[in-house]
Amino acid sequence: MSMTKRYQLLTGMVWLFIFPVVFYIAYNYFPARPVDWVNILILFALMFLTMLLPIQIQNVSISLERWITLTIFLHYGMFVELMFVQMAIIILLFSEKTSLPLSHKFFVNSLMFSIASLVSASVYHFIGGSIHSLDFTKVFLFISIYALVHSLVNNLLLKLYFKTQKRSFSLFSKGAIGDYISLFLMVPFSVSLYFLSEYLGGYSVVLMGVPFLLVLLASRMYSSSNDKQQQLAIASEIGRELADQLKYEEVLQTYLEKLRGITSFQNGYIIDLKMQSTLVMLQAIEQDELTKRPKNIHFDSAKTSSDGLDMKKTTIFNGLKEIGKLKHFSFNQEITTAMTVPVIRDQITEGFLLLTSERKNAFRPEDIQMIDILTSYFAISAEKARFYERTLNKSERCGLTKLHNFRYLDRKLEEAEREFQKSPTNGISIVMLDIDYFKKINDTYGHESGNVILVELANLLKGLLREGDVLARYGGEEFVYILQNCSKNEAVLFAENLRAKVAEMYFWIVPDLSDNQEPIAIQITISLGVASIPEDAKTAKSVLRDADRALYIGGKQAGRNRVGVLDETEKEEAVQ
Ligand code: GH3
Ligand code: MG
Ligand code: MG
Repeated sequence: MSMTKRYQLLTGMVWLFIFPVVFYIAYNYFPARPVDWVNILILFALMFLTMLLPIQIQNVSISLERWITLTIFLHYGMFVELMFVQMAIIILLFSEKTSLPLSHKFFVNSLMFSIASLVSASVYHFIGGSIHSLDFTKVFLFISIYALVHSLVNNLLLKLYFKTQKRSFSLFSKGAIGDYISLFLMVPFSVSLYFLSEYLGGYSVVLMGVPFLLVLLASRMYSSSNDKQQQLAIASEIGRELADQLKYEEVLQTYLEKLRGITSFQNGYIIDLKMQSTLVMLQAIEQDELTKRPKNIHFDSAKTSSDGLDMKKTTIFNGLKEIGKLKHFSFNQEITTAMTVPVIRDQITEGFLLLTSERKNAFRPEDIQMIDILTSYFAISAEKARFYERTLNKSERCGLTKLHNFRYLDRKLEEAEREFQKSPTNGISIVMLDIDYFKKINDTYGHESGNVILVELANLLKGLLREGDVLARYGGEEFVYILQNCSKNEAVLFAENLRAKVAEMYFWIVPDLSDNQEPIAIQITISLGVASIPEDAKTAKSVLRDADRALYIGGKQAGRNRVGVLDETEKEEAVQ
């Protein structure tokens, strides 16, 4: 969400019109009382410390400074309360992360709280409340009503503000309810502090202020140690999940997605460091989109020692000036925070994670530990997945032709079938082919020559492979194509074209059985069978059997050098 300059200017102007009016009314028309500066200073210090110690409830941070502003109102009336709240807002501006300009945030908050104060103070005095009263029942009752009105008006204004930005805000959201509760919880405390300080002056702080702050402090320590434990539990859970992934791609993606739960970034990039010198983009997530070609980042592929990328330590870059230290990187978005995390395995830096955000100070130093733990899990899992894929690759290829073998083909066909069930295409077609009378060729020219023919034929077949399709050497001199998004008719045309090409081709061999070592050209023919999902069969297994049967009946039995397809009665599923 971006906020236009005009909109910001408008808020500033509205503030300029309304705030002075509220200020004037508060100063001239509301009951007041001479201030005791020592008391004011003490209360201000209490408010400040309270704001430093917000309590955390279900990830919502609630700051309890209003126990002081209510007390202030009871003592000194609306005008002093208004001033205190403005100061609280200013303190809040510097403690909260935000991407909005501070001035805009101040105007919005100041407006809302001023209006809320004006309305609730009016109600308070209208129903008979007064300041500096020592009548407990009245004080307690009226200040409760004051708190209720204040909270309601405040949340209504917040709703209005969100509406101007086309965002939704519920009066019963977690944040809003937290607001009502905290204000109500504060009423007894405020009333106690008020009476105590009426009777005891400054000593009231010893009796109430200090214990109050100590309780806040204790609750904070408790919740932060709880947080740590929770975070570690989450980390080991994610570690297990990463380790379970056998596909390298999935490890990359899971890692990026899980990071979201730990720190709030907009864009994340996993960059490989090849040969300790070349940077290569492996995987990115921009907003919520996984991509290999991110739009918002550019960098030189040559890694130099002075480019600002720390090889050993996770680093946070706050502000444009610091981000400028990442010398060879440029960003298309107005990012204000970045973080680089070296991916280290066996003490060697193998790459980097780079996170960016438009939000100021988006990354908390206390999250670094978790990110580092997660990154070390990632490094191990990625290596494991890579190793697994390499071994798998070896076991799924044929040594002679370098084509994939039946194991790979079966796996891919199952995958394609599952994909097809989810989102149907024109079809998945199988083209199976077998060399005619190959035994004879072996017998005439020798096994070695047979091998040469197999390799040359494999190269021809590879040349016809389209993007996304699969080709495998399924058995001795049998090959299979999986044609994706291909109807049966198209597959038959493909097969026919292939048959003709092979029949025209000359294979140069040196017969190993004869004394004559001169190369000779020979010709071969192939027979083919075509079957498709969904025309012939529904499953991977049966479409493969159908293609085999089509090859045998329509190709070989019908005379060879031809393309076979199945009649209705010959299909695997018709037989079953
Ligand atoms: P058709 O398919 O037309 O019925 O006759 P064919 O002679 O091709 O019969 P079949 O498919 O049963 O025979 C396959 C032959 O392919 C058997 C074997 O000698 C040969 N063969 C299988 N694998 C290899 C290999 O890796 N290299 C060589 N040179 N020959 C192989
Ligand atoms: Mg054969
Ligand atoms: Mg055969």
